Amino acid sequence: MASTQHTPTELEAAGDLVLPAADELAGRFPLTPNAYPATPEEYDEIMSTLAFGKKFTDHMAHMRWTREGGWDDRGVIPYGPLELTPGASVFHYCQSVFEGIKAYKREDGSVWTFRPGYNAARLNHSARRLALPELSREDFVASLVDYVRADVKWVPGVDGSSLYLRPFMFASEEFVGVHPAGVVDYYVIGSPSGPYFKGGLSGVAIWVEREYHRAGPGGTGSAKAGGNYAASLLPQIQAEAKGFSQVCFLDTYEGKYLEELGGMNMFVVMADGTIRTPELTGVILEGGTRSAILRLLRDQGVDVREEKIALSEVVDGIRSGAVSEVFACGTAAVVTPITRLAGDDFDVEIEVGDKTREIHKRLTDIQWGRAEDPYGWTYRLV
Ligand SMILES: *Cc1c(COP(=O)(O)O)cnc(C)c1O
Repeated sequence: MASTQHTPTELEAAGDLVLPAADELAGRFPLTPNAYPATPEEYDEIMSTLAFGKKFTDHMAHMRWTREGGWDDRGVIPYGPLELTPGASVFHYCQSVFEGIKAYKREDGSVWTFRPGYNAARLNHSARRLALPELSREDFVASLVDYVRADVKWVPGVDGSSLYLRPFMFASEEFVGVHPAGVVDYYVIGSPSGPYFKGGLSGVAIWVEREYHRAGPGGTGSAKAGGNYAASLLPQIQAEAKGFSQVCFLDTYEGKYLEELGGMNMFVVMADGTIRTPELTGVILEGGTRSAILRLLRDQGVDVREEKIALSEVVDGIRSGAVSEVFACGTAAVVTPITRLAGDDFDVEIEVGDKTREIHKRLTDIQWGRAEDPYGWTYRLV
């Protein structure tokens, strides 16, 4: 498919709409300061460790939805345990969705995020599928703005590090009848994080899973729903026990085609210069990183293809040299080379390639403001 023929997906079109500047949105979530913030020693410890997703900042953004009143109670409040009744429906039926997005500190001290409108649209896409309420993209972006402004000292300045933002929404109504909740809470928490994979661009080993799937046709695969991750954990620990860091899932109809990893999309670089990624089938999660990479490649005139990719073709291609690179991508891990792909009856290795390095650099240069952003993807928070 030629580069000019791409029709933006719904998420891409929504993500491209211009957003109000952060100063216009700021203040929607008024701050209640934390009276017991981290001590200087705790702060130093957390900011020097930068373990992904383990420690959180002093505050969090919150708002609550009720069937009668809609979204209300907006605020940035002290980070801390939630009070939920054991009857809250999220514990029983997993009515819960989330997002993953980062705040990046630039050399001049300004703090930016990447395509927040895209993530706002995707949260609503996920919410619709799980019968949760949608929110306005202004509220979504304002929650990031007000939260990051309150906790800006927690955005690390070290190269490759960021404040990983986790907006999420869940059913908090006290009711164990099976029906969509009439009370829903939305939060944004953030974790100062270094690179997701400690190996960095040195590559990861992937186990191709034949027995289990994370999602299926008509299910919740295209929603960023906690339940999809729950389904991926058993195969994940089995793969880890074999020495692999992630699992690659195959299609549920034939068990023949690559879908994605538990939390990342995949790309295959062919020796002839073509770059391929599994097409969106409704089972795969449509990653913002995937979308950005496709756009960058198309604009460079690369022949990119979203299509069915047979596992057998990739394994044979790695053996014959027809496949030159394989990588995974997502907000948390950015671009991660896959250097080993194995399953029940095959085990192949492949080097980290220049194309993977080049895509990683091109994307992170835009995200960190080291290169011009012709797409309007970067958004200044602070
Ligand atoms: C979040 C996620 C991705 C990556 O999406 P990004 O927007 O690029 O972070 C890919 N697959 C799954 C299953 C995910 O949950």
